[in-house]
Amino acid sequence: MIQRLLIANRGEIAVRIALTAQRLGIHTVAVYSDTDARAMHVAMADEAVRIGPDAAAESYLNIEAVVAAARATRVDAIHPGYGFLSENADFADACDAAGIRLVGPSADAMRAMGDKAASKYLMSRAEVPLVPGYHGADQEPELLAEKAAEIGYPALIKASAGGGGRGMRIVEDADDFDEALAAAKREASGAFGDDRVLIEKYLTTPRHIEVQVFGDDHGNIVHLFERDCSLQRRYQKLIEEAPAPGMTEVRRAEIGAAAVAAARAIGYSGAGTIEFIVDASEEGANGPFYFMEMNTRLQVEHPVTEFITGLDMVEWQLRIANGQPLPLAQDDIALSGHAIEGRLYAEDPARDFLPSPGHVVAFDAPEPTAATRIDTGVRSGDDIAVSYDPMIAKVIAHGADRDSAIAALDRLLSELVCAGPTTNQAFLRRAVTHPAFVSGDLDTGFIARHIADLVPPRVGLPRDVLSAVTACLLAVRGEAAAARAASQGEVNSPWAATDGWRANIDSGETLRFQDGETNITVQLARDAAGWSLMRTDQVPIDVTHGAGGWSVHVSGNSFLAVAGGEQIRLERVVEVEEAFARAGDSGGLNAPMPGKVVRVMATEGDRVTRGQTLLVLEAMKMEHAITAPGDGTVAAVFFAAGDQVSEGAELLQLEAMGD
Ligand code: ADP
Repeated sequence: MIQRLLIANRGEIAVRIALTAQRLGIHTVAVYSDTDARAMHVAMADEAVRIGPDAAAESYLNIEAVVAAARATRVDAIHPGYGFLSENADFADACDAAGIRLVGPSADAMRAMGDKAASKYLMSRAEVPLVPGYHGADQEPELLAEKAAEIGYPALIKASAGGGGRGMRIVEDADDFDEALAAAKREASGAFGDDRVLIEKYLTTPRHIEVQVFGDDHGNIVHLFERDCSLQRRYQKLIEEAPAPGMTEVRRAEIGAAAVAAARAIGYSGAGTIEFIVDASEEGANGPFYFMEMNTRLQVEHPVTEFITGLDMVEWQLRIANGQPLPLAQDDIALSGHAIEGRLYAEDPARDFLPSPGHVVAFDAPEPTAATRIDTGVRSGDDIAVSYDPMIAKVIAHGADRDSAIAALDRLLSELVCAGPTTNQAFLRRAVTHPAFVSGDLDTGFIARHIADLVPPRVGLPRDVLSAVTACLLAVRGEAAAARAASQGEVNSPWAATDGWRANIDSGETLRFQDGETNITVQLARDAAGWSLMRTDQVPIDVTHGAGGWSVHVSGNSFLAVAGGEQIRLERVVEVEEAFARAGDSGGLNAPMPGKVVRVMATEGDRVTRGQTLLVLEAMKMEHAITAPGDGTVAAVFFAAGDQVSEGAELLQLEAMGD
């Protein structure tokens, strides 16, 4: 029996695996790269081992380092998660050699399915339907062009060793073939060190439908129904659901049987996924289906299957690795309701989904319920590392039917707060509530076809964002209590919480912000009635958004207003810092991290010189000096010794000399 388990992964999947292992009383060992030393998956494991620097090749992909960590911690088994070493047959061999069980299939099964061309050959022998195409060993360009002409255009060139959509090229007609082949081969050899390709008929209205299978060491194989993963960008999945919308019971049984036959053909043991491509042009989910590839691991999107079956798939994997038979027979596995997952990424839908890693200022996920779940490895204050996949979380909801699953997912997405990096959160809400999605009219071209609806341009600044941001600014400047409230996220009644504010703005202060390319100037004043705010520019106010409801999160001079899954970032322009920056100086007057003020060495009216220490902050048992970014006069000091400050809190105000 597995009693000690090393999880050779990071992020949400490492956390998710550890949760099940710990529930089963298994001692968990995490591994980490330098960047991840304080990551959530490390914090929650019973034990953790550093395996190398940030570069994945030297840490999470480093077979020797992972096996050495497993030996050193005397684990009985390793769970590889997905990605990284999960489908690496050499790693499976190395585990074998070290006498450590790998929670996954045999190295032989990984090898058989690791190559798209070889696996297609195997599947054709098992009579699993294949997309019309060529997957032979002969790679002569002339022959490949001939095969493409036989199959007919449009054709698709795919890297045999491919994954993640890389090394894939659509060819519209024969004239473009040579160039596309060269490009696909270049990309494939760069990404996989292997430039072999295969050619397939390119389906113009395809749906990606995959079947979850499980096998054990006793020859039993079952399927856990299908998932529809047609909502993709760059050939990568973004929204997945189970069951496939519109699929009939008859087709479900057929595609499930084909998947079981495929797994049986290689004597499969463990969790696996048979990916099919469905020609949805005429019959939607019930159109002809063809084997695409098999993934010999747990998939990112497995939670939707867990919701509709009520099963814990990691538990099944661990039982199978223990040599136990499958917990249920096919007839005992029932499908209930509908589940949908949206992948929350640090990426910018408006810039062709370009990854946008960055600092997560606030991450506040609603507690899981029987029908909702957020899988993540990210907490407030973490960074989305540039070295790895920019997925932040998986947001998953279950309902009695598809409409209620959509409604529950939309609600969950609107409640989730993720402030900091640019994300696709609002995009996901628009996608799942889009009339075409709601009616089940899907294929892999969905996102491209509806991109104008899914990424609408923002006109102006929503009503109340400015007042919420200004309120937050005042609260952060205010007494320590107000600062603590702001660090909790919500600033409920900041106008009342700013009594500590006593500096030079009673007579009026001009605040400048940058909203993307747009400059915003407001005049802040205080009179007997309280604070008032006046726009002194012509920037339009967007009145389509409802009033209020914005919570504001601060990081340095960035103010992140969040409501209903939308995020608006206003960068405060601080004149003194702007002037110093122009002169080539750097440094800011905000708390670089949450901490406690231990000494204040400047008072209002002091003339200070560049580099002079103004205040000392204690954070993580270390002292950090806040120094003057340039010569100037201290206009205001917002905190006293002993005060707690939240990250990004403005500590002092400085006026540049000669301003
Ligand atoms: P990878 O392993 O690189 O992810 P796959 O073979 O799994 O590549 O294909 C990824 C995606 O590419 C599929 O989900 C589908 O959207 C698209 N695709 C693959 N094969 C075809 C095809 N023959 N016709 C149209 N689209 C395809």
